[in-house]
Amino acid sequence: MRTEEIRVPDIGDFRDVEVVEVHVRAGDVVVREQALITVESDKATLEIPSPIAGVITSMSLCVGDKVSQGSMIGKASASDEAGAQGETISADQDVGQRATDYTRYDLVVIGGGPGGYSAAFRAADLGLNTAIVERYGTLGGVCLNVGCIPSKALLHVAAVKEEVERIADKGIRFAAPQIDLQELRAFKHGTVKKLTDGLSQMAAARRVTVIRGIAKFASATRLEIVGEGAGSQQIEFGQCIIATGSRAVQLAVLPKDERVVTSTGALALRSIPGRMLVIGAGIIGLEMATVYSSLGSKIDLVERLPDILAGVDADAVKIWRSRNAHRFEHIDVASSVSTAEITPDGVRVGTTGASVRTRSYDLVLQSAGRVPNSSELGLERIDVAIDSNGFIQVDEQMRTTARNVFAIGDVVGGSMLAHKAVHEGHVAAEVAAGKPAAFTAKIVPNVAYTDPEIAWVGKSERDVAESGRKIRSAKFPWAASGRAIASGASYGMTKLLFDAETGRIVGGVIVGPHAGDMIGEICLAIEMGADAIDIGKTIHPHPTLGETIGMAAEVHEGICTDLPPIARK
Ligand code: FAD
Repeated sequence: MRTEEIRVPDIGDFRDVEVVEVHVRAGDVVVREQALITVESDKATLEIPSPIAGVITSMSLCVGDKVSQGSMIGKASASDEAGAQGETISADQDVGQRATDYTRYDLVVIGGGPGGYSAAFRAADLGLNTAIVERYGTLGGVCLNVGCIPSKALLHVAAVKEEVERIADKGIRFAAPQIDLQELRAFKHGTVKKLTDGLSQMAAARRVTVIRGIAKFASATRLEIVGEGAGSQQIEFGQCIIATGSRAVQLAVLPKDERVVTSTGALALRSIPGRMLVIGAGIIGLEMATVYSSLGSKIDLVERLPDILAGVDADAVKIWRSRNAHRFEHIDVASSVSTAEITPDGVRVGTTGASVRTRSYDLVLQSAGRVPNSSELGLERIDVAIDSNGFIQVDEQMRTTARNVFAIGDVVGGSMLAHKAVHEGHVAAEVAAGKPAAFTAKIVPNVAYTDPEIAWVGKSERDVAESGRKIRSAKFPWAASGRAIASGASYGMTKLLFDAETGRIVGGVIVGPHAGDMIGEICLAIEMGADAIDIGKTIHPHPTLGETIGMAAEVHEGICTDLPPIARK
């Protein structure tokens, strides 16, 4: 054995960079290429590998030290094995090779939303040298920053406020609430920050490099990154995952004005408008209407389709509507916005269709759908096919028409929901790492986190009527659930749909508190191909709202003892 000094090799632009991790200590046996330390600059994280195989005799560095080329890392006794094989490559040669490689990643993910960060983390866990390119300063994408999480923080507050008001008729009365918008915004911001900070830490823990900037394809293996914080640089990739998400549709008829907002503007909660128009009665529109009406706004809703909550059965929608009638002055379905202008009274909007009216509003929310972020990526340079709406086309391995490029999440369309993006991200990462994965989910659940919540999955009676397929539905009204009655939720409902031929469950809908937390059981049942006996014979805890799923299955089998007997023929 001979003792050798191990020094920091030429690592390109890295000068005076901080040691963020020391992986070995005196006495450790190391092999060639094993990471000794990790250094981090404001642009990237880099592991410095051991140039030799042997035993570490001393380490000269601690976390927090600053190093440049030539700094002493430590000393090691090189084993004969390395020398005997004639593989002794000088540290400079060896790591210099890597230094030219450090802007080349096995996998680069464009977009740090739920799809993107999940893909990057999974890929890193599978051993790929991975980077995320994200245009904004925090990870989390729409979902964490301006979508799922801030909306749920505000919906939570709205739900508590309304629950407190409802409890008055049960003998508990509080003073009228006082709303401090600044504190409410701070609560929302704090919730988001906790999660986005957590993501940064998880990226660092996995040694996923996060590069800030806007990425565009320069070639089939190179990205050009421009934007604040990134200057302009090019990085190379072996494989790439596009996870650039989507943005709200901007309706051409609406003027540009600070009172005309998308969900991002609505979540900023600048003020509480007296009158608000919500355009689009999907999940986002109804959630925002719930928040603002709870804060005191009077809401009008306009929807182009014949009913609100497209895709949900009429019986469930009816319950939702009756519980939410107080929020709205008008719900105009089968109608669309035809005119809009700024006047001294606010934004004056006219509708056409089933309801023709013109009114002025202090805030107009456009929640009429989302479009994919695919047009600025330079996809034409790498032959990635998109459909007529701009969604990237993928196969079930999430591969695009370019072999080494995958796409996931909102940018590929389908259900534009975070949980779908995450699952697709995992599939793409696993395929990129050489694993035999595919996105074969039978269903993606939907939840409107309104009051009451409404959650649905799989087939609806509406779908089935259109397809001609035969199904049997079974409904358990919460008026017969002890827990629902005790919680003031006897208006709720759980409905399951079964294929009439196979008996397997194909869909379900729940309306009532915690519907979103309960729908997962129906998802599992559908994925597992369960029938009503499987679900009904599964013992659910009593008294819970969840047992209404078991009871709905019992209704299907005609064995439910929590409802009046079925009339004998
Ligand atoms: P995104 O989250 O959109 O992330 C894409 C990222 O890519 C962004 O950070 C963007 O900055 C970045 N990017 C784009 N182009 C580039 C580029 N060229 N270079 C670098 N970076 C780029 N879903 C749910 O499941 N549950 C909910 O409760 C829910 N609530 C929502 C509430 C609202 C108000 C909204 C608007 C959406 C909600 N969604 C919800 C939908 C959910 O946010 C999206 O489905 C999810 O964020 C999609 O994830 P993604 O990773 O595909 O893309």
